[in-house]
This record gives sequence, structure tokens and C-alpha cells, in this order.
Amino acid sequence: MDNLHVDTLVVGGGIAGMQAALDLADQGFQVALVEREPSIGGKMITLSKVFPTLDCCSCITTPKMSAVAHHPNIHLLTYCELQSIEETGSGFHAAIVQKPRYVDARKCTGCRECEYACPVTVPSPFDRGLGAYRAIRVPFSTAVPQKAVLDMENCILCGKCEKECPAGAVDFTQQPEPFEIETTTIIAASGFELTPLNAKKEYGGGKLRNVVDPLMMERFLAPTGPYGRVLRPGDGKEPTSIAYVQCAGSRDQTLGVEYCSRVCCMYAVKQAMLISGALPMADITIYYMDIRTFGKGYEQFYQNAKAMGVEFVRGKVAAIREDGEQNPVIKVELTEEGRIVERTFDLVILSLGMTPAPGSNGTTSTSLSASLGLPLGTDKFIAIPAPNANPCASARPGIFVTGTAMGPMDIVDSIVTASSAASAASAYIREHQKEAVYA
Ligand SMILES: Cc1cc2nc3c(=O)[nH]c(=O)nc-3n(C[C@H](O)[C@H](O)[C@H](O)COP(=O)(O)OP(=O)(O)OC[C@H]3O[C@@H](n4cnc5c(N)ncnc54)[C@H](O)[C@@H]3O)c2cc1C
Ligand code: SF4
Ligand code: SF4
Repeated sequence: MDNLHVDTLVVGGGIAGMQAALDLADQGFQVALVEREPSIGGKMITLSKVFPTLDCCSCITTPKMSAVAHHPNIHLLTYCELQSIEETGSGFHAAIVQKPRYVDARKCTGCRECEYACPVTVPSPFDRGLGAYRAIRVPFSTAVPQKAVLDMENCILCGKCEKECPAGAVDFTQQPEPFEIETTTIIAASGFELTPLNAKKEYGGGKLRNVVDPLMMERFLAPTGPYGRVLRPGDGKEPTSIAYVQCAGSRDQTLGVEYCSRVCCMYAVKQAMLISGALPMADITIYYMDIRTFGKGYEQFYQNAKAMGVEFVRGKVAAIREDGEQNPVIKVELTEEGRIVERTFDLVILSLGMTPAPGSNGTTSTSLSASLGLPLGTDKFIAIPAPNANPCASARPGIFVTGTAMGPMDIVDSIVTASSAASAASAYIREHQKEAVYA
């Protein structure tokens, strides 16, 4: 991998990082986009449809992914880890490592012959462990780049992929490849993770098979999902009664997640509407403390769900257990009636909150900010010292933040902050260029 000299290094290829990269590249700046996964797209490419328009998510995300890959001013660096950043007189020096794909990306055509030949099946992280794929595979049908990646941890080294690959691309000898990037500015777009499914032990997440997380439900609802329809994972039964538990990982001091995650009410309402379409006979109940519909058109979206027959019940869920037939049983305090009841469902979705993405080395949630030398806010997301004056400027000159790397937000706000960070970075680069001329 050759060393690079760019105007901006964007770390993270979700919707926020892609938008920031495209905005800057369209203005003529040279951009390097570093993504640690084998494909760009972030969480958005895994979603089914998006609130408030119910547009197909792939239809919006895939053209952006493709535009990033084909832009002459963007150097797309997937499956790469940022190791360290050092300040230089004129900007930053970034040390990056290209992780081994065990496939020569210059030769691979994405034909998938290796995948068809591979005898080893592993759970697919793209489908949140619900579906399966091969130890060597193109990560998903709309992945960018369309290049195979081999999972060495699960590979049995049978050599079938190497034999079948018509391009001679499989390369078991690949090693991590370090390289360097000189850049004037950095945009942190490292995104979010869900509060862990098992964070609240009394809800049984991770233990009870039919208590799932909301990204799993996105995959059930997606046309490219693991089952192609909504089935409960415990026994493959079509659910006829489904419950959502709101604030199941937000506004909860015991979990250290005291803030509202902003999107959970809206994604639960959206999924309830989509389930009503997919399973018209199903009863859907949403247990909530408050419904927060903060954006333009969002209140109407909520009212539409009510009109479609989705039941909204104000209540505090105390615990979830399982009956003898794998059905989750919810114990809930109905706060308006002042009584506690139990109700059995086929499937329960915990509306988990947003927490900062784990760091590049997978050990702590703070290591990206640590390697960038950025302080965190009390919510553990990257701090923005002057949000009213400079909404995307970090505490360190030349480093900007966008999307859910700075806190919970939806796609609209991720795109707005991306354009804002790109605009701030562009002003900073131009100022630097002027200073260099007069120096
Ligand atoms: C269940 C669910 C449903 C949702 N539905 C909707 C909806 O319908 N409408 C809506 O507006 N919003 C919705 N959202 C919110 C939406 O998903 C987010 O607003 C959006 O995905 C945030 O994009 P992002 O780029 O900030 O982060 P991400 O999508 O998390 O992208 C971050 C990227 O950075 C990469 N990365 C992280 N750390 C590093 C590192 N150190 N080095 C290199 N790369 C790194 C990650 O691999 C990832 O690709 C939903 C959220 C959830 C949980
Ligand atoms: S060598 Fe590994 S990746 Fe290739 S076909 Fe065999 S098990 Fe699959
Ligand atoms: S590694 Fe070879 S067989 Fe696999 S997708 Fe690439 S070109 Fe096709």
C-alpha cells in the first residue's frame, strides 16, 4: 500500500463519513476514507426501510457507496485500522494498517466462485448472527468494494477457494501492511453501537431466544434478510403477537446510559408499521415511558402508526421471563393504572440505545478518541466544546466530528452534521493553504 498525502482523512465509512468525504471531494479536495470493515455503508446499509418516508434503505445508501468508490478524489481504504496520529507542523501524520483479506483485491472480480466452493459455514455479522455465510465471501450483495474476504479464524485451509478462483486472487500468505497518510484535517465518523442486548439482565436479552435487538428486526424486515420474512429465531414460528420495550438501554442510570438515544421511539414505530404490513394479523404493542418524536413529520408518523392499530401502552417493564414454549412473558407496571400485569408474546424487541462505537483495537469504546487525542463528553461520545458556535469542531484544531460519533442522532442529522463538518474542514484547509503561501 502506497503512502498518501491528502487534505482530509475521514475515519469511518457509515452514512456520515461517506457524506463528508463526498462533499469535500466534490469541492476538489483529496480525501482518504478509512473504514475498518471490509465494506463501507455502516449501520444504514443493514436497515430495511427508513423513517419518516419509509424509503428503501439500500436504494438510498448503495448509490452513495458507489459514488464514494468511483470518486476520483477519494482514496477508499477498507479493512484498515488507524493505529496512531501525530501532529506535524502542517497537519497530521496517521499510521494505518491494511488488514489481510487473504485475497488480492486488485485481482478479485467479486465473482463469488470461492464462496460457492467453501465448505465452512459461519454466522453472518451482517445479519447479526441470524443467517450464515462461508468462511470466504463477498461481505454482502451490495458491498463496496465487491471483493472477497477470508475469515482465517474459521478457515480449515482446505484450499478449495484457491483452486476454484478464476482470477488466482486467493493469497494465504498476506500479512498486515502498514502505511502512512499525511493530512491537513481529520473527520471522525466512527459511529455508534447498540447498548448490549444483555445489558439489562432482568430482560433476558442474549439468553431468551425470542428476545431480540432492533437491528435483528431490521434484518428480518429487509428483503435480503436471513429468512426473507419475519420469523422468530427460537423455533422459526411466524409471530402473531409482538412487543417492543422502549428505553431498554437508554435513560437508565444503572447502565451508565443516562441520555435519550433519540432514534429508538422512531425506529420502533417504523418497525411496527412495517410488521403490520408483513404480518397483517399480528398484534403489536409498544411499552413506553414517553414517546419522543422530535423531527419534521415524525409526530404524524407516530399518529399514523396508532391509526394502523399499533397499541401504545404507557408502562415500565420490570422483567421478561420465558414460558415452557419459548414465549417471552413481560411483567409490566401500567403506570397510568397503577397496577402490575403479566402478558405473553411470541416475540419481544428491546429498543436498545446508542453507545459510542468500540475503538479500532476492539478493547475500549474510547480508543479512537484516545488515538485522536480527543476528550469525551459525560455521555462518552466525542466532546464538542462549543456546540452552538461550532457544532462539528472537536477540542483539537483541525479535527472535526460528524454523525453518531458525537452522540445519538438519526440519518437526517448525520447527513447534516457531515456537510457541516466538511464545510468546517474545507474552511480550515483553505486558511492553511493561505498561511502556507504567505509564510
Ligand atoms: C435499529 C435501528 C433502526 C434505525 N432506523 C433509522 C431510520 O429508519 N431512519 C433514520 O433516520 N435513522 C435510523 N437509525 C439511526 C441510523 O442508523 C444512524 O443515524 C446512522 O446509521 C448513523 O450513521 P453514522 O455514519 O454516524 O454511524 P455508523 O453507521 O455506525 O457508521 C460508522 C462507521 O465507522 C466505522 N468505524 C468505527 N470505528 C472505526 C475506526 N476506528 N476506524 C475505521 N472505521 C471505523 C464503522 O465500521 C462504520 O462503518 C436507526 C438505528 C437503529 C439502531
Ligand atoms: S481454504 Fe478456508 S476459506 Fe478457502 S474454501 Fe477452504 S475453508 Fe473455505
Ligand atoms: S477471490 Fe476469486 S473466486 Fe472469490 S470472488 Fe474474488 S475473484 Fe471470485
